Amino acid sequence: MTAEETLAQLAKEISVCTKCALHRERKKAVPGEGPATAEIMFIGEGPGFHENEQGRPFVGAAGKFLDQLLEQAGVTRADVFITNVVKCRPPGNRDPLPDEISTCCDTYLENQIKAINPGIIVTLGRFSMGRFIPNAKISAIHGQMRKVGDHFVIPMFHPAAALHQAALKPAILADFAKLPELLKEARAAKGKSSGENKQAEVPKQNDEPKQLDLF
Ligand code: URA
Repeated sequence: MTAEETLAQLAKEISVCTKCALHRERKKAVPGEGPATAEIMFIGEGPGFHENEQGRPFVGAAGKFLDQLLEQAGVTRADVFITNVVKCRPPGNRDPLPDEISTCCDTYLENQIKAINPGIIVTLGRFSMGRFIPNAKISAIHGQMRKVGDHFVIPMFHPAAALHQAALKPAILADFAKLPELLKEARAAKGKSSGENKQAEVPKQNDEPKQLDLF
């Protein structure tokens, strides 16, 4: 199976999954979206109201903000893969439970990562970070890239948290602005360890840091 076929197969399984209680109230599962060749994979927490309606990740207010952060980093949605640690909406947007996260990630997220083999994984929020870097404090390590197993992981604040807490906005802006540089570093390290390097374009950073509408 090609990576694309694997992702399509996983999406099909996710859409009818009954492995945890979250399936009971779901309208649409949200497997994630983006190309199988994506160099950057963003992993959020779980679908909210709008994502549950549409079956697509980050389409509500946090998604609009994510789009702006991506644009600022010179990256478009079409270039990246966006998903969540849980693929079905926790009722009332409650936090996903540890067993929901482990069941969903062991079954689906791990296989999505294997299929895509991204150069960088960006975790959005503490639940996603906790999957890769357990017991860390996001306030202490956000924006710092580290190797976890075979992958480079950059923990970042969740866009929704930054929308609701003005004090976090400068940090999330600065972390996204570093993405092109960190991607270059990850590519170089990957090239060194595998003897090959992907030829894709490095996203260009905008000359001027852009003031986002929401600030
Ligand atoms: N928040 C998330 O963590 N994921 C989404 O898909 C939408 C909002």
